Amino acid sequence: MKALLMALVDAPPGIALTTLCWMLIGLIVGSFLNVVIHRIPVMLQRETDNFIAIERDEPAPHEGHYSLLFPRSACPACGHGLSVLDNIPLLSWVWLRGRCRYCRAPISARYPLVELLSALLSGWVIWRLGSDVNGLAALLLVWILLALAFIDLDTQFLPDNLTLPLLWVGLLFNISAIFTPLTDAVLGAAAGYLVLWLVYWGYRLVTGKEGMGYGDFKLLAALGAWLGWMMLPLIVLLSSAVGAVVGVLLILLRGHQRDKPIPFGPFLALAGVVALLYGQHIIDLWLSVS
Ligand SMILES: [Zn+2]
Repeated sequence: MKALLMALVDAPPGIALTTLCWMLIGLIVGSFLNVVIHRIPVMLQRETDNFIAIERDEPAPHEGHYSLLFPRSACPACGHGLSVLDNIPLLSWVWLRGRCRYCRAPISARYPLVELLSALLSGWVIWRLGSDVNGLAALLLVWILLALAFIDLDTQFLPDNLTLPLLWVGLLFNISAIFTPLTDAVLGAAAGYLVLWLVYWGYRLVTGKEGMGYGDFKLLAALGAWLGWMMLPLIVLLSSAVGAVVGVLLILLRGHQRDKPIPFGPFLALAGVVALLYGQHIIDLWLSVS
């Protein structure tokens, strides 16, 4: 964050202004990502419950429309609808000191955190890649990765209705080789899935346990589709290394049970962002050292 701010101060005024504008847009998008993170798992659960009920000839348990846009946001504690003033990213939370205006119930710091992360990442992407097609496409990738990381943290699940479109959009962008030639993108998608699938089955055959889920394969496939197969070793190494360190820290500091799985999606997402912004840099460095 400090590096980004220092760079902003030193950058030509045009670039600094563009970056700041996109940080602001990122803040607003972050507010929408909070809705995505909260509602997509609920939407999928409702769909599943209704499907099971219909199969059993029972009345559907969830009536009424529920989507990303409807019903309007409300306080989970008192159910009071939120006005525009309650919904200003970051500022409302700070202004209301993290409490609901109507019932004073505490509001999780997660909401402003996601908004802030989205703003910082958006600024970083535009500052690093520029605000042409390349940068804008990268923003889309980073926003979806952010949503996926938090959904996985909450539910240990990476929904297909985000990972699969992400994969297809990556391939479509790379028809014009925005990040990598199309051949490398297709190979990246296939290899990304296959690598984790092999790890999964290897681990399962040896230990009898499931180390990760199918969502992780699809997420790595999507990252391969966006960034090409050459980035896969970096993404796998980085996500495993950070995941292992965080896992050990969690066990040491918080007595996290060893058998309780730690979601892998957030680490894949993080490694994907690093590969997007600095992947070529890191690989060049790697090759020059070895
Ligand atoms: Zn309330």
